[in-house]
Amino acid sequence: MLKLTPEDITLSAQAAGKVEAISLIADQLQADGMVEAGYREGMLTREQQTSTYLGNGIAIPHGTTDTRELVRETGLKVVRFPAGVEWGAGQTVYTAIGIAARSDEHLSILRQLTHVIADEQLAQRLHSCSGVEEVRAILSGEAKRGAFLLGADQVRMHSVATSYSELVALAGAILWNKQAIIQQDLISLYATPPQYLGEGVWLVAVASQADNGAAAVVQPAQPVSLYGNSLDVLIAISTHNDQHLPLLERLTELKLEGRLKVLAESRRALDVVRHLLVQKLDGQQLICPLPMSHGLHARPAANLARIAKGFEAEIWVENLDSDSPAVSARSVTKLISLGAQLGHRLQITAEGADAAAALATIGEAISAGLGDPVVRGFQQQAASEAVVVALESESVSAPVVRLQAGDTISGLTGAPGVAIAPAYVMSEPKFEFAHQAGPASAELARLQTAVAAVEEQLNKRLESTANTELAQIIAMHLELLLDPEMQQEAEQHVRRGDSAEWGWQQSFEALASVQEQSKELLLAERAIDIRDVGNRVLAQLTGQGGSDAIQTEHVLVCQEIAPSEISDLDLSKVRAVVTAAGGVTSHAAILARTLGIPLLVGCGPQVLTLEPGTPVIVDCDARTLKVAPDQAALDQARATMAREKALAEQAYASRFEPAVTTDGHHIEVMANLTAAKSVDKAIDHGCEGVGLFRSEFIYMDYPQEPTLEEQRAEYARVLDALGADRPLIVRTLDVGGDKPLPYMPIDKEENPFLGVRGIRLSLRYPETLKRQLHALLTAANGRLLRIMFPMVTDIHEWRALRAMFDEVVVDYPGSNIELGIMIEVPSAALMADIFAKEVDFFSIGTNDLTQYALAIDRGHPELSRQADSINPAVLRLIDMTVRAADRHGIWVGVCGELASDPHGAAILTGLGVKELSMSMRAIPRVKAHLRQLSMQAARDLAERALAADSSEAVRALPLLETDKLAGVRHG
Ligand code: PEP
Ligand code: MG
Repeated sequence: MLKLTPEDITLSAQAAGKVEAISLIADQLQADGMVEAGYREGMLTREQQTSTYLGNGIAIPHGTTDTRELVRETGLKVVRFPAGVEWGAGQTVYTAIGIAARSDEHLSILRQLTHVIADEQLAQRLHSCSGVEEVRAILSGEAKRGAFLLGADQVRMHSVATSYSELVALAGAILWNKQAIIQQDLISLYATPPQYLGEGVWLVAVASQADNGAAAVVQPAQPVSLYGNSLDVLIAISTHNDQHLPLLERLTELKLEGRLKVLAESRRALDVVRHLLVQKLDGQQLICPLPMSHGLHARPAANLARIAKGFEAEIWVENLDSDSPAVSARSVTKLISLGAQLGHRLQITAEGADAAAALATIGEAISAGLGDPVVRGFQQQAASEAVVVALESESVSAPVVRLQAGDTISGLTGAPGVAIAPAYVMSEPKFEFAHQAGPASAELARLQTAVAAVEEQLNKRLESTANTELAQIIAMHLELLLDPEMQQEAEQHVRRGDSAEWGWQQSFEALASVQEQSKELLLAERAIDIRDVGNRVLAQLTGQGGSDAIQTEHVLVCQEIAPSEISDLDLSKVRAVVTAAGGVTSHAAILARTLGIPLLVGCGPQVLTLEPGTPVIVDCDARTLKVAPDQAALDQARATMAREKALAEQAYASRFEPAVTTDGHHIEVMANLTAAKSVDKAIDHGCEGVGLFRSEFIYMDYPQEPTLEEQRAEYARVLDALGADRPLIVRTLDVGGDKPLPYMPIDKEENPFLGVRGIRLSLRYPETLKRQLHALLTAANGRLLRIMFPMVTDIHEWRALRAMFDEVVVDYPGSNIELGIMIEVPSAALMADIFAKEVDFFSIGTNDLTQYALAIDRGHPELSRQADSINPAVLRLIDMTVRAADRHGIWVGVCGELASDPHGAAILTGLGVKELSMSMRAIPRVKAHLRQLSMQAARDLAERALAADSSEAVRALPLLETDKLAGVRHG
């Protein structure tokens, strides 16, 4: 909570209406220098957009996103209106909290207010208490009374305690820290006999005199024996009124279901809390990542609540990335209390006649940002990952039902691809070792040897891998392994008499637990990296942990997969990986994508019930796993896969053959690069040169503009690898729009894609562009190099660029450079005949050309699917460009995504495009496809495409068989 001083609180004010009340608060914010003039208007505008009334007589007026820039200093002003102010829709405000916030503090303030908003009595105290100190205490949560607390910070995993008394002391300390226990309660806690619930779970409870109640959960690293039973988990409760009863009910439920052991088996504190909090929810579910940068604050929450109220179904929302329980979707304050931030996964459960419709509407609304702007990248993710999991009458907390033949379960696409194979469930690595060991010096030496051995393993892997992503992950693992704090902590344990294994495990588990409690999903997902490194050392120390590798082809199923496990997979045996947990942004998912292993994540615990050897179809593109499918489904999937595989293999085997049509026309097939180091891989995929080097990625790798020498080295690396016969086309810096650069700031724009982007930005930073041209010329050093400029819209821009180039090139008389422009703005296509007189070549950027021709933001959550570059309108612009180029004797290439699509590539060939540049993986397939075509067939296809009435019609166009087979291969 932001610090509130007495000066920020006005106990009594009067206002005739909402506008006057807001003006009064705005004046206070301005008088204190928190905001500049104009913020008041922002607050009033914001109020018109949606009321900031939160409930129980509280409102939180604040400015619009646009007026955030007027905030000089984040702060609050609390103004009470004892007579009440009419806030519209029959609501009266007694306490208004004016907020001046630049960014996300706004959200955290809201979250901290939810305890007051949800508690009528506390809200009454806020409106009527007599002193500013009490107001401050209420708002900051210090005066909160009667809560029952259970969060991940109240769970201790892998505790070193070895006896009940140590465990209960630790639980007591947790309750004490939460102010949920007073001194004499502590004595009762130690004296109360614990109760055995079964399956290793013990409960001890005291009636507390403290303000709050709370639970503490302690899981010993090694089971402790108590009265002849094993103690795997101790739950200590300080009761407060009846607020602990739901927890007891939940424990009873788990006991009756025979599932108490999930508490001992949980690897993360968050999972323990979730098991203890999750209510029984029946219905259909949808999981949807939140795509808005400011998270689920009041306005989007209000929109969500409004949508939910439009349905009869009961709708609950749970934040899977926090430890709060599911809340009703109809309550704005409860929704805010979920603390959902960008990327958090919301699980929506609906039950009732219109549940399916409710989920569909809510899923769409969340993907579209619930009225807030969505973050590029997340918006597509949100749209594509919204997965409806039909649970019928099953619930997240219901006993896990064993999967049956014919079942289909859903997950999220970690990496694309399809696989059919028997499934094998891999268990978590388990290590057995003693808690205590011999002399500390010997144990320390063992630990050092094990760490050194793992360091060597990782270094060897690092040296031997050509995969950049894998190399980055290994480098990060090396950092973790050698982290001084982690090592020191382990050594301290060992010096106290613990074994090397025990000390090391305590140390890395403590670090992993802190990491996984991070509110940032991405950071929380990195906990598995810490455990991955930690377990490597444990495996080294114990000689255990290697599971028996399955010697036949299979689908690997596991709880979660670590990056090293992915990189260690025997790809000749593992066809796909399916996980119960895990996310799409994990390192394992990044690796799976680069290694081409289909990965389906987040399938839920049910997937772990698969019998060994059960045949499954994993379709990561459709995000499903089919259990023991019938013969017809298997046959169909097998036939499709076999066809795809054979085509891909044939294409790959002949990837170095040029793309020459059956009647002898050669189409140059080139690679798109984003990093110089990928050039060797591109050559190995059969590229005949680089048709688009997106140079902005060099700039993005540096916190400041890279030096001339740094830039030169990158270009030289590519030129050297390509040699004399393979051309290189470098696109000059293309930032702005979706790719901002911190050291080339631009003002915030309403429509960045229509703003200072590409060459428009470079022309504002002429010295930077000249430095880039300089670096390119020195790298080329007389060799042929093609340079092209992005986003050129009119001839004056081109001429300014040309003049700049002429200025730089004076110093390099022997230069051999061709200059071209990208055609990615419709005006450039329409004026191609004018440009063609002055440039050496055109390269068509179909991604942007499509966005601008169809007026669809290329990242729009709903519309981007319609932005298909095969649209005849785009094809006509391409046709126009090629004709103009032909008339003036220059060549045209295409470097947008359309070139990667075999059907698109055939049409482009027919339109007269001479060079196609694409992501390297697409090269073999496109080349193979073009080799089957005659130019005549391609022209005929292009002609029909130009005449078609829609993208769908173009996609459906067949190649005419007679044409396809007519040509006799020449040359
Ligand atoms: C394009 O717009 O088609 C293109 C190749 O450029 P980028 O995708 O990098 O904007
Ligand atoms: Mg572009």
